[in-house]
Amino acid sequence: MTNDAHARLRDEWRLAAPLIDGFTPEVTETLVVTNPATGAQVGRVALADVRHADEAVAAAVRAFPGWRDIPTTERGAMVLAAVDAVEAIADELAALISLEVGKVLHEAQGDVRGSLAMVRGMVQLVAELEAGEDRTGLPGTGQASFVRLRHVPVGAVAVIGPWNTPIFLTFNAIAPALAAGATLVVKPAVEAPLALTAMLRAMAEHLPDGVINVVPGRGSVVGQHLAEHPDVRAVSFTGSTGTGRRIAAAAAANIKKVALELGGNDPAVVLESAEITDSLIAELVAGCFAMTGQICFNIKRIYVHRSRHDELVEKLSAAVSRIVVGDAFDPDAHIGPLATRDGYDNALRLLDEARAAGAVVRELGIRADSADWTAGNYIAPTVVTGIAADHELVLDEQFAPIIPIVPFDTDEEAIVEANRTEFGLASSIWSQDLRHAEAVARRIEAGNTFINAHRLGASVPLVPFGGVKQSGLGRTHLLYSLEHVTDEHGIVGFSHPAAQLPGITRWQTVLADHPAKENV
Ligand code: NAP
Ligand code: MG
Repeated sequence: MTNDAHARLRDEWRLAAPLIDGFTPEVTETLVVTNPATGAQVGRVALADVRHADEAVAAAVRAFPGWRDIPTTERGAMVLAAVDAVEAIADELAALISLEVGKVLHEAQGDVRGSLAMVRGMVQLVAELEAGEDRTGLPGTGQASFVRLRHVPVGAVAVIGPWNTPIFLTFNAIAPALAAGATLVVKPAVEAPLALTAMLRAMAEHLPDGVINVVPGRGSVVGQHLAEHPDVRAVSFTGSTGTGRRIAAAAAANIKKVALELGGNDPAVVLESAEITDSLIAELVAGCFAMTGQICFNIKRIYVHRSRHDELVEKLSAAVSRIVVGDAFDPDAHIGPLATRDGYDNALRLLDEARAAGAVVRELGIRADSADWTAGNYIAPTVVTGIAADHELVLDEQFAPIIPIVPFDTDEEAIVEANRTEFGLASSIWSQDLRHAEAVARRIEAGNTFINAHRLGASVPLVPFGGVKQSGLGRTHLLYSLEHVTDEHGIVGFSHPAAQLPGITRWQTVLADHPAKENV
């Protein structure tokens, strides 16, 4: 299986190289991209530097007016042609993600296909918004004879991507930018640059030069430079809270739009009124362990009413025992290894510290034959109980297939614990008593609180996604994503220049009563 996927991958995809104004510049420094399942080399990334970033921004700025002014339906057709071209190679790109990130193939396919669907949705949305919103005659529009509100593209948009879901998360900004007529400079994460770069290069062939530019490079160099750049009008970032702070500070120097999708430490609160059914357990397991715990809004801590604690731990542990851990290309594997060595080391450290603090650490799951436990970043899906509510594993983001479970006695206590961190991405409340669940949900500090679910499908397109507190700034999904790459442009019209606005009579007397003073 692995060999098949390797065989289908094109050689040119093995090098993530910069794309600037349709050209591939010479780059001297490269880094190895490894497969986290084996430690083997998958490809290389040709590191762009500050000069490349400047050239890419200049190209995006040059391409912008032409791209913006293409009629919306025509631009939409070009973007859709680019999407169709990627559709034809979607499975190969997914295999490439599996190789560089380690996530199982069907998760990687979701990354690619979800992004294509997002672009199509954005093209349709922008077409619907093309005329602008007619606010003529509405309260608050005074005596204006017509009022129109449009979304106009901001100009050059920088997108700094993460390694966990390298395509979909960057497309949260790329899709609306392309559809709306903004131009792009994309910096993939050096740990997973191959599939995103290959995909953007494939799309760029169908678009005018300079609309999509790609600068794989170090975040502290190229990413920082893009965030600071005066000609970048909006910067979109997905990654850690610490980097988000640096980007917001860099962007402040010349006032640009900033969208930050940052870390999370999502709580799941299982209420006293919850019945611990098989379906509740299945949803919880998916919420905790999908993508090896490396989704920004995975469940990262469970609070359960003490009366339900033992039953939940027993049933959850039994379910987790059935999770198969293996190579991304093993069709039996539910989850793969952790994507990065740093993440792996951190997960092991957290487990050691939990053990040292006296917690019960149950390493569960099934090791598939395909999982090379000595070479890869493999961690068993792990359930931790008997852990203090203020342990780092509870209060910080683990980004690993490890779930701590903490009992509570009152709803009040659960709410306090759930809100106790600097994070506020998503959250969930679990009970078949929906009134009880909603009453608790209303008091959780988070961008979203789901009830009886907590995974990708729960975040529905019509509800904005994003974080409160240190989990981010701005929202994604449809119109919310579009707002980040566009500015509102109001056109407020009066049928003729006449005394329509309050106060004009005073100015008319100025014109009528006084002869003009001769200029000296
Ligand atoms: P990270 O270190 O912040 O890296 C993310 C990106 O930022 C990479 O492309 C990185 O470049 C770049 N970068 C690093 N320093 C920079 C700087 N000073 N200026 C500009 N760019 C810079 O994040 P990570 O630790 O790899 O990713 C995991 C975190 O992302 C977790 O906390 C997770 O919760 C969060 N995340 C959030 C969401 C969400 O939607 N809210 C989604 C996914 C992940 P390099 O290539 O050099 O690393
Ligand atoms: Mg990093």
